[in-house]
Amino acid sequence: MTLPPKDLRIFNSLSKKKESFNSLNPNIVGMYVCGPTVYNTVHLGNCRTFISFDVICRYLTHLGYKVRYVRNITDVGHMENDDDTGEDKISKRAKIENIEPMEIVQKYTNEFHSILDSFNLLKPNIEPTATGHIIEQIEMINKIIKNGYAYVKNGSVYFDLMNFSKDHKYGVLSNRNFDDIKNESRSLKGSDEKKNPQDFALWKKANDSHIMKWPSPWGSGFPGWHIECSAMGHKYLGEKFDIHGGGMDLKFPHHDCEIAQSKSVYGENPANYWIHTNMLTLNGKKMSKSIGNSVLPNEIFEGSNKTFSKSFSPMTLKFFMYQAHYRNILDLSDNALHAAEKGFKKLIDSYKLIKDLPCNDKNSEFEIKEWVDRCYQTMNDDFNTPVLISELFECSKFIKSVYLGFKNLNKNDKILIEKTLKVFLFDILGFKIDQTELEKKSNEDNLVKILINLRNQARQNNDFNLSDDIRNKLLEIGIKLNDNKDDSSYNYID
Ligand code: AMP
Ligand code: ZN
Repeated sequence: MTLPPKDLRIFNSLSKKKESFNSLNPNIVGMYVCGPTVYNTVHLGNCRTFISFDVICRYLTHLGYKVRYVRNITDVGHMENDDDTGEDKISKRAKIENIEPMEIVQKYTNEFHSILDSFNLLKPNIEPTATGHIIEQIEMINKIIKNGYAYVKNGSVYFDLMNFSKDHKYGVLSNRNFDDIKNESRSLKGSDEKKNPQDFALWKKANDSHIMKWPSPWGSGFPGWHIECSAMGHKYLGEKFDIHGGGMDLKFPHHDCEIAQSKSVYGENPANYWIHTNMLTLNGKKMSKSIGNSVLPNEIFEGSNKTFSKSFSPMTLKFFMYQAHYRNILDLSDNALHAAEKGFKKLIDSYKLIKDLPCNDKNSEFEIKEWVDRCYQTMNDDFNTPVLISELFECSKFIKSVYLGFKNLNKNDKILIEKTLKVFLFDILGFKIDQTELEKKSNEDNLVKILINLRNQARQNNDFNLSDDIRNKLLEIGIKLNDNKDDSSYNYID
């Protein structure tokens, strides 16, 4: 299939507008996405973000880019509060479950992988962990100190926002400058160590009872949350790479702090394009572990969550998520999932019909090439999946009318429709349908054809009892024969 020109446009959170996408190296894309903090089961909101980046990665790959997709696992340093206070989330959970912090990390990483597998998401090319990159983080912190943008206090290291703001702009993503956040900051626990309460921790001193700690030039401790992504992004994608992504809630402080760290060492923002996905909400409230309104994927797959009237499959959930653009808020509800289930079935059913469609040499009564172009244009317009889905439905309507004999389909167009739908449904949107179901359908088609041949022979031998019998028995199981002079076609009746 000929690929469209690469006129992809991406909404860049840095410039706050859509920009043409130009990769740093021809045909290669480096993309870093902030992964989960593995202290708990991921909820459907987290899944929405990873599903959005999966489509982005799949589409870039489809356009011919070789994508190096790096998605980290945060297994240390993410404190309960964004201002570096409270306990480390992993350590806290380890105490609650009475197991080692690394058992918590392994348990929830495994679970995360199996949940993403059920959504049929591509695996990242590299999935680095924060605990596996302590040396790289210490090295980067050392450079920040050397450049005068961080200071050591009582075995901890803090980023010096005031010094940084003299030379660079801070808060470029969230549009907050140093004075804004100074006014926003409350008096914080531990802030007596900081020159300014809004300075953030690069390294924290660990007390004797702390389990996850490492030796460092500043004593025994552990890294702050933001430094891991800067260190790992740099290690695997270089000083400057193409795309950095995460949920909207990471813009500030996490991503603004990452940018400040990279500027401190390399003098520039680490990524050309910053992509932020919007939130999944439940009754209008952001789904979040801390609010306590999380819906877990398995609860939906099994039908055990009382807010929902039945179970829904991972593909239905994915279809539901694609019906909103990744930059818009999406509210989860029972009604919306019922509608998504119906819509997804309709789309897949029409795809399954293509093989059986009658076709000929006449012109199709549907502008197929224009339709294919429109499908690409929607994805080139900042990965606009809801508009793409509506385009796929346009084609599905046409398929149904050809099937019912209302519209004509040219045989070359039939091949093009099948290829295009296959690419968009399975390669780009990453849907997965039960192959055994497709195989069963193809076996059934072969059996019906054998019966039609036997019936044709019976008709030639004037054995009308047998030929009527075959026709009636097929009709009883929903297969209607349409007789021509020497042969018959068939269709399924609802
Ligand atoms: P966390 O494990 O909390 O660091 O979150 C992992 C990813 O999920 C981050 O990119 C978050 O921005 C994203 N995320 C968290 N809550 C939601 C939500 N309700 N909707 C969409 N994405 C979310
Ligand atoms: Zn990150």
